[in-house]
Amino acid sequence: MSTAAPFQVLLYYKYFSIDDPQRYVTEHRALCDELGLRGRILVASEGLNGTVSGELQQTERYMQIMHEHEGTRDMEFKIDPADDHVFKKLSIKARDEIVTLGLPSDEDINPNQTTGHYLSPKAFYEAMQDPNAIVLDGRNDYESELGRFRDALCPDVGNFRDFPEWIRKHRADLEGKRILTYCTGGIRCEKLSGFLLQEGFTNVSQLHGGIVTYGRDPKVKGRNFEGQCYVFDQRIGVPVNEANPTIISTCALCGEATERYRNCAYKPCNAQFFCCESCEETKGRFCQDACCCAASETASTGGEA
Ligand SMILES: [Zn+2]
Ligand SMILES: [Zn+2]
Repeated sequence: MSTAAPFQVLLYYKYFSIDDPQRYVTEHRALCDELGLRGRILVASEGLNGTVSGELQQTERYMQIMHEHEGTRDMEFKIDPADDHVFKKLSIKARDEIVTLGLPSDEDINPNQTTGHYLSPKAFYEAMQDPNAIVLDGRNDYESELGRFRDALCPDVGNFRDFPEWIRKHRADLEGKRILTYCTGGIRCEKLSGFLLQEGFTNVSQLHGGIVTYGRDPKVKGRNFEGQCYVFDQRIGVPVNEANPTIISTCALCGEATERYRNCAYKPCNAQFFCCESCEETKGRFCQDACCCAASETASTGGEA
């Protein structure tokens, strides 16, 4: 029997009206500080989006308190066991939106009014078998490079706000299809699927609870998700698929299959790239020869990079 992990990572969001986001931030920071949580939380007039880590008791207490509050009473938490904190510190900020498509305010999506049909993991799995379905990844390119659903359409965007333009440009590929969107925990799909409806697409569904929930579902067990799920904390990637797992990413230096996502050690570059353990040991953690050369030059001259 394995002992329970002493820490938990929580991932959660809720679209609901917050009258005074700045005040909410102040009060929420006091709560999280008191509990000893770390992580990143965004607050806006449209709702709350967070991911935090903490000891078992701290995170349980946090969920309990959130469920006592109007607005977050029915907020869903995705819970991952962990050995330690996965964040270095706590950051809570007020923003204009918790997720932004960069739309003018009169075109912005309120998911409580306009959003795609919710699909459970099992329903999503079944919908993916429909020959008329198109599976659309609602995340950034560097996330889908680590892992994605089999045969998913993965837009080459580096930021969520690039989606409206991408969708308008690729309208012909999506027209007449049954569109199935997915993202990490579901928050981005709420707006993305709403945007697709607003653009005139009629058959739009979203994976409720995202990849994280899909991986934990006892019926589908992450089936047909290839690679790992990218997460925005120190873990970088987490496993999803217990049914038929594969690795889709390869070392940028030698081409071997690897899921080690690292940042280039040459600071001015800092690019995220796949680097296997043996290449990092023998060649150093540089995404390309040029970065390795630049770094050694900087070191030998003692100059500022
Ligand atoms: Zn390698
Ligand atoms: Zn580099």
